[in-house]
Amino acid sequence: MSLRIYTGEYLISPALLHFGGNWCTHGCAYCFANLNKPDRVSEPNDIARVLKWFDTGSTAMEFELLKMGHPILMSNDSDPCAKSNAAIHRCIVEALSPLGVRFAYQTRGGVPEEEQRIIDQAPTMVYVSLTTDDEMVRQRHEPGAPPHAQRMQFIRRLREAGHMVVIGLNPFVPKWWGDVDACFEQLAGWGVTHVWHQAMHLSRWQISAMSEKARAKHSDLIDYASKKVAPDAKDYAAALDRIEAMGFNLFSGGVSNKLGFWDEWFDRLGYPWSPTVDALVRDCDLAAGGQPLAIDLAEFNAWADIGLKRPRAIWKEFLNGFGRSVRNAGEDTRAHSQAEANAFIWRFDEFPTRFRHACFARVLYDDAHAADLDGVPLMAVSKDGFAEWEVGHSDVTFLNHPLERKCDGREPLCSTEEQRQVQHAQGPDGPQAQRPVLAEVPRHLAESGAAEAAPPQA
Ligand code: SF4
Repeated sequence: MSLRIYTGEYLISPALLHFGGNWCTHGCAYCFANLNKPDRVSEPNDIARVLKWFDTGSTAMEFELLKMGHPILMSNDSDPCAKSNAAIHRCIVEALSPLGVRFAYQTRGGVPEEEQRIIDQAPTMVYVSLTTDDEMVRQRHEPGAPPHAQRMQFIRRLREAGHMVVIGLNPFVPKWWGDVDACFEQLAGWGVTHVWHQAMHLSRWQISAMSEKARAKHSDLIDYASKKVAPDAKDYAAALDRIEAMGFNLFSGGVSNKLGFWDEWFDRLGYPWSPTVDALVRDCDLAAGGQPLAIDLAEFNAWADIGLKRPRAIWKEFLNGFGRSVRNAGEDTRAHSQAEANAFIWRFDEFPTRFRHACFARVLYDDAHAADLDGVPLMAVSKDGFAEWEVGHSDVTFLNHPLERKCDGREPLCSTEEQRQVQHAQGPDGPQAQRPVLAEVPRHLAESGAAEAAPPQA
């Protein structure tokens, strides 16, 4: 199916629906999608299927999300402005827009009519990849994609039309750039503020999927992308420091430097709630006034809830990124709800989940992990990051909770004597009657009036 639940970027991107395109004729040599699935084609029948849903109703999860107002991301595995996708892009927009379906984009630009079709849908989010300002490099490594100058004009027009534009420095290879600073000064002048950056990487499998001719042609790129430590790591960091100094919010690995990376997605574009790690870190920071905050799984589930109640087997696909680790541990990856999927993702100390990030740590109480009433470990969250993946309980804040935390049968963990007394006064059911911390925290800095207190792929 071309229209599907977008499970691969759960907690990274707020997009929950994705429409996959045909093999992408932009032909980037390093394209993970072309290398992984060179024979993929989109299914035009999916458009008829969606039309039928609107006509007759459906219980499909995709339809539930569409009805809630979630946009369809086009596309994480092919460019809607590539020649190979222009026709399907036109059809899907023309067929579904009149029904109120909205789209968000990941593109390098390309076919002018499709660029204009995107511009005409303002406002939505358009992620435009900029990879080089050197035309020779572009022709060599991205032969079917538009030149840098065309992408820049596309971005200018997107901004003039009122779109949220995210720049994808993806991949960012410093030596491919003549003057990256000048490019970002120009972008800043057009009011662009969001940058998603990622280093070049090619897996052994992807390299072996290249033809012999392609391997010979891109041998320097393969050599560069195969190194464990990038040879130009210092140049990469220095360029990003300069871009950050220009005021851009830089996003990589799930958390942005200013936090609130997706605020515009929810506030101005009006898309329904969908959790991201970036927003979680920001909300915890707000809730605890800049201090590390301890939360439990129930709080996270309440905060992250996207409102789908019907059990569905697809939730196990949200675990794909680390499912093998779960199975290697002898466990079943079955998950039928968001909460069940979240319970696996929560276990970042056992499996390489989204929470395996410097912003998250386990909470130590003596030598054990502090846990909730069900024995599920707490998680500490800090925008400044933790030096270790465990942090002492006295170094974190607990909010709104009398804090009866069972710690492997030890004394309940209470952060202050006053809270301990509250807990005792309320009895054992008291803590569970508390509302989740994060559900009470305004999601948006601007609305909360605390903006000064905490600065805020394809
Ligand atoms: S534009 Fe994106 S999808 Fe198309 S070939 Fe390049 S990396 Fe792949």
